Order: sequence, then C-alpha cells, then structure tokens
Amino acid sequence: MEENLRHSQKMDAVGRLAGGIAHDFNNFLTVINGYCELILNQIEDENPIREDLQEVSHAGKQAAFLTQQLLKFSRKQIFQTQILDLNEIIANMNKMLTHLIGENVEYNSNLGFGEYKIEADPNQIEQIIMNLVINARDAMPKGGILTIETQNIFLDEDSATSYPFLVDPGMYVLIIISDTGIGMSEEIREHIFEPFFTTKPQGKGTGLGLSTVFGIVKQSNGFITVHSELGKGTQLKVYLPQVNKPIVELKKEESILVGFEG
Ligand code: ADP
Repeated sequence: MEENLRHSQKMDAVGRLAGGIAHDFNNFLTVINGYCELILNQIEDENPIREDLQEVSHAGKQAAFLTQQLLKFSRKQIFQTQILDLNEIIANMNKMLTHLIGENVEYNSNLGFGEYKIEADPNQIEQIIMNLVINARDAMPKGGILTIETQNIFLDEDSATSYPFLVDPGMYVLIIISDTGIGMSEEIREHIFEPFFTTKPQGKGTGLGLSTVFGIVKQSNGFITVHSELGKGTQLKVYLPQVNKPIVELKKEESILVGFEG
C-alpha cells in the first residue's frame, strides 16, 4: 500500500518535471524546425547541403513528436466522465484494432455477458485498450494470439484484501488482454509502469504507454494486475468499478478537471 503510494507520487513528480522540460524543448524545436524548413525551401535540389539538412529536419521532427508525447502525458487534461458500456466501446474499436494488430497475429475478442457499465471518459478507455493492444502485438514479432476479454467480478472483503495493494470490495468489470509473446522477466515486470521505462528500440517505444494506463486506471478508482511468463506470454487485467447508473451523456459544463498538477 505504502509502496503503491510512493510509486504514484514518484510518477506525479516525474510527470511534472517531464512536462516542464518538454514544454521548453517544444518551443526551441519549433524554432529549429521552422528555420530548417525555411532553408530547405530556399536551396536548390542539387545543392549537396540539402541531404544533410534533410537529416536535421527528420531528427527535429522525431524530437518534436517525442516532446508532444511527453506533453500529452504530463499536461493537465480535461476529461469528461460519463456512464458508458465497456463492451460497446470495445466492439466499436474492433475494426481499428484488427487493422492495428495486423495479419501476423491472430486476434480474438471475447466479450462477456451482463452489465459492463463504468463511469469514465470514453477516449481514455480507448487509450488504455490501444496501449495494451500495441504492447501485446509488439511482444509477438513472430506472430501469436492476442485476446481481448471482458468479465464481471465481485470482490468481497476477503478477496479484496488478497491483493498486495489497497482494493475496495465491490463489483468490477475487467478488461483482460492476453498475448502469447515474449513475456517479461521479473526484473522488467517491476518497472513497466514507470514513465520512460522501455525495452523497445529507439524510435519505437517512449516508455509512456503503461504509465499513462496506470494513471487513467488510478483516476478511475481501478487497478491493474500483470501475469507474465518469459517465452510464454503476458496477461494484463484492468479492473474498473462497475456502476449501476443509467447511461446518460454529460453536458460539457459538467466535465471535471483532473490530472497532474503543475
Ligand atoms: P513502450 O511500449 O513505449 O515501451 P510501455 O510503458 O507501454 O512503453 O511499456 C513498457 C515496457 O513494458 C515495454 O517496453 C516492454 O518491455 C514491457 N511490456 C509491456 N507490455 C508487454 C507485453 N505484453 N509483453 C512483454 N513486454 C511488455
């Protein structure tokens, strides 16, 4: 519990720090990239400097992309929670996910029966699913099976205390994303929710996917568990509290402001 709190505080601090640096970097990069384009437009095609300048421009754009990701991660975000059906969200993403996963990996979607109402921002729920699916796909470069499942679960007082962190008893909906990929060592698994932790090659991973997922799930009063075996695959379970309210879309002014401070 204390460990969990320390972890969140550390993430908030890193988020604030990264946000400040990213903001300043972004300003400098805008100037660098702007001048680079200006010069490129002024020199002839056959000028030997052109190729070098194109390299500078390319690197500048990559750096700008990374700082944008950092800003997105650390900026205060306005998000609108509403009562929504988790199964409906996943079903609506199906086509996009099939495309994202590609032909190399077999994709199965196994949505449970029953109530799947949660109180959350639909964009954030999509972000969670996208990030987990991308990671599962990337863990199977040689192909494999990716499964998205939803389930309902009731956690009574006893089962709630069986988790290594504080969990409120009650009804939860579960998003389970499983892959038959490379899996993770104990050492990697300990760090996956930390901002900027990545084992992916440069340019492929930012290390912000799972820390973003962690932040959203925490704000939604949920939690995540990870089961992974090296060489066999990984299963991430996202638990979100189930609600019993009717589905009504909130008006704009009812939105709430939450996120990292600073
Ligand atoms: P990124 O995807 O940019 O690396 P993430 O925060 O999403 O950042 O993931 C951090 C790291 O966690 C990954 O680089 C990888 O080492 C590990 N990881 C996440 N999901 C999986 C998975 N399904 N299988 C194996 N490793 C994973």
